[in-house]
Amino acid sequence: MVISSRLVTDTLSIQFPLSVMALFLHFTCPLKNGIHARPASVIEEFTHNLTSTITLYNNRTGTQANARSVLDMVAADVRFADACVIEVSGADEVGDKDRLQQFIGNELPSSDESVAAPITAQDQVLPRMLRNLEFTHFWGTVVVPGLARGKLVQWGVLGVSPTIPLHGERPGIDEVALVQTGLERLAAEYDDRLKHSHTALETALLKAQRAVARDPAIPSRVRQEMKTHGYTAAGAICATEQFISQQLLATGNPLLAERALDVRDVCLSLLKILYGESAITTAAALTEDSLVVAETLTPGQLLGMDRSYLKGLILTHAGTTSHTVILARSFGIPTLVQVKGIGAISPVTAILDGELGLLVTGFNDTVNRYYAMEWSRREQYNARIAGLATKPCTSAGGRVFEIAATLGTAAEGTAAFDGGAAGIGLFRTEMIFMGRAAAPTEDEQYEEYSKVVTAAQGKPVIIRTLDIGGDKPLEYLQLLAEENPFLGCRAIRLYGKLEMLFRTQIRALLRASCLGNLKIMIPMVCTTAEAQWVRQIITEEQGKLSAEGIATHPCVPVGAMIETPAAAFAIKGLSKYFDFFSIGTNDLLQYFMATDRANASVAHLYNLSEPGFLRLLQQLINEAHKHQRWIGMCGEMAGQIQYLPLLMAMGLDEVSVPCSVVPQIRDRASACDMQACEALLASALACDSANEVCSLLQAANTQLPQPILAPAQVILDVSLSNKTEVLKQLCDTLFIHGRTVQPRAVEEALWQRESTYSTAFAGGFAIPHCKSDAVTTNTLMVLRLKEPVSWTSDASEPVRVVILLAMRESDSAHAHMKVFAKLARKLMHDEFREYLTTESNPNLLCDFLRETLDLTA
Ligand code: PEP
Ligand code: MG
Repeated sequence: MVISSRLVTDTLSIQFPLSVMALFLHFTCPLKNGIHARPASVIEEFTHNLTSTITLYNNRTGTQANARSVLDMVAADVRFADACVIEVSGADEVGDKDRLQQFIGNELPSSDESVAAPITAQDQVLPRMLRNLEFTHFWGTVVVPGLARGKLVQWGVLGVSPTIPLHGERPGIDEVALVQTGLERLAAEYDDRLKHSHTALETALLKAQRAVARDPAIPSRVRQEMKTHGYTAAGAICATEQFISQQLLATGNPLLAERALDVRDVCLSLLKILYGESAITTAAALTEDSLVVAETLTPGQLLGMDRSYLKGLILTHAGTTSHTVILARSFGIPTLVQVKGIGAISPVTAILDGELGLLVTGFNDTVNRYYAMEWSRREQYNARIAGLATKPCTSAGGRVFEIAATLGTAAEGTAAFDGGAAGIGLFRTEMIFMGRAAAPTEDEQYEEYSKVVTAAQGKPVIIRTLDIGGDKPLEYLQLLAEENPFLGCRAIRLYGKLEMLFRTQIRALLRASCLGNLKIMIPMVCTTAEAQWVRQIITEEQGKLSAEGIATHPCVPVGAMIETPAAAFAIKGLSKYFDFFSIGTNDLLQYFMATDRANASVAHLYNLSEPGFLRLLQQLINEAHKHQRWIGMCGEMAGQIQYLPLLMAMGLDEVSVPCSVVPQIRDRASACDMQACEALLASALACDSANEVCSLLQAANTQLPQPILAPAQVILDVSLSNKTEVLKQLCDTLFIHGRTVQPRAVEEALWQRESTYSTAFAGGFAIPHCKSDAVTTNTLMVLRLKEPVSWTSDASEPVRVVILLAMRESDSAHAHMKVFAKLARKLMHDEFREYLTTESNPNLLCDFLRETLDLTA
């Protein structure tokens, strides 16, 4: 067994050369997370079709690995910057060495997936209500945020039912052949599932598992287990799973430990193939809302769970880069990993708090009340922003500003429109072409485009033609490796070479155009010559389709992405050929700043706040409008909420953002004050550095002036138990009504003031107050309690009417003090106090306070 011998012998000297004729290739591992399962499966896939014997050596550890075995390569523990050697020997070793050299230079560096940084438990502090309280909880690391409640369900370990023998000979059964056949069927099943995979993520996961399924290390270990321990196929598979997993876990490298999951998944599937689903004993069926607790969980196990009951995941030993975590993130299932000290689980109802990083299993009244308030806060906020989904998003100046969604797969379309997207601003079609052995046919493409156009029900759908090349190779196109792929043959520059491919896509798009409001968008356009050529191809294909009697929309709008400075300065000429434009800031910034968008060592220069870049955007938007062209933005900048005021002020017609942020961006856009946005933009454009722009954005308040007090800020006759709950309720209400996005920061600011002096007044009144830029709109709020609560530790009068004053730190201190002083004076008067204590109509109470305190601003 390859893995065991390499890991336990721990030899540091590599025996070169293994073959006299062999060729060697030296490289340094470019992958931040080293060669773990995903990159290893990419290498395996590449070497699978080469004829040479290929061995990978890790100079740091002295280990070597068969480059056709994912497990072997993973066990070689190649880490970032490790010096490595590849030995190639065989009849075609010269050709294979060249191929490998190109692969290592061009494809290996982009073979891993970046994973969002986790929120660590150390950053978390319990909120006031839960502080200094006895309740059973466990800290973990949040990898998918959210709040979930359900019964704890412990996920089991791999095993087979007692009816399946683990030892002994079974007459007439060749156990070795049985396993071999099973593995072949399994690899074929993965091939089949890959053909139907919808997303790049699913494809990558399936490929990684297929690589494990066809890894020679598995049958080799199975044979050894049978020979040494007299196992049947079932026994040997379980033993193999345990053995390889233990070896991987024993390395102490979390990335390798996670790979044990892929091995488990493959062994599990193999057992199912050989003995049927019912013979396997791991899976507890979910029958009610559940939080699944597992030491580890395979992606296959996650995919096999009933997701209508799966509310949260607690993975005691999974790392943040495991495939399972990546899948959970894409399904939006709140997940904690590295939960410490959880021990044996009983099936109790628990709460997974993916904001604080807590698993709560012990409850008392206070904890229950805290989470009841948390649910209520989320529900009320979601209800308010969901209500905005049907309203047109019109800026204060009366100009329509559309918030559209960006899609990677057709399947996301429905969710985008449910979230209030005004259209699809960018549908990246690369996914349809990736993870397959050949390009999709015209009909296959037509199906995909039709799904989105139909779901849009007349709303605009901008579909971008294939943006391949650069950092996105397609194996079956056999593109030549380039020194500078980002400056080479990518996107439109490839269409001339792959004309049939481009024409096929155009035909599929034109056919789908008669189903709704489809627009075609061309990536990486730089010159009018390119524009002219593209238009000619489209016209020709339209002509051919009509000659064939196939319906298309008579006039499908065609647009260009503005992703290069060349295009940004050619708007006048491009306007002759294109009906609309959309700014691809991801590329535009990289070409403007001469900074590779994926290179961490120059990331400090890849800064959207560079004033020069902002000036470029403004100039090109103006130019597009001067030539009567609609212009949107579909790069990542569009979805970053801090830039929204600037983009609105620049006069963009649309932003296209990830589906999940459509509601929040709509909410923020509808609250933007255009005058304030324009003033902010003018200041930003005049800045000399990105830092200056960042400080401006942080301090700016561009929300539409809202009244300091509105009826929604008058909450009458609620039941709360104490001052802590009252302060939380006030801050939650600020959050629900878009007056803060950081309710806990406002709460802390209030408590700081309370710790200096009590804000209680005679007659059962209190005026908690703070100055904090966590507040986005100066607010006065009234909360009247059913039962008074004590406000100070002494025996002073309990408080029944609470008046919150939450002001922005950067606003004049006088505003705060003026209102406070007036209030304090009024509270001396019996009639004033009497009115606040008895009026039952929030509108009247609101009017009364506005008038009495002169709250006109
Ligand atoms: C862009 O460059 O901003 C863009 C949207 O295209 P991609 O990120 O797909 O290159
Ligand atoms: Mg781009």
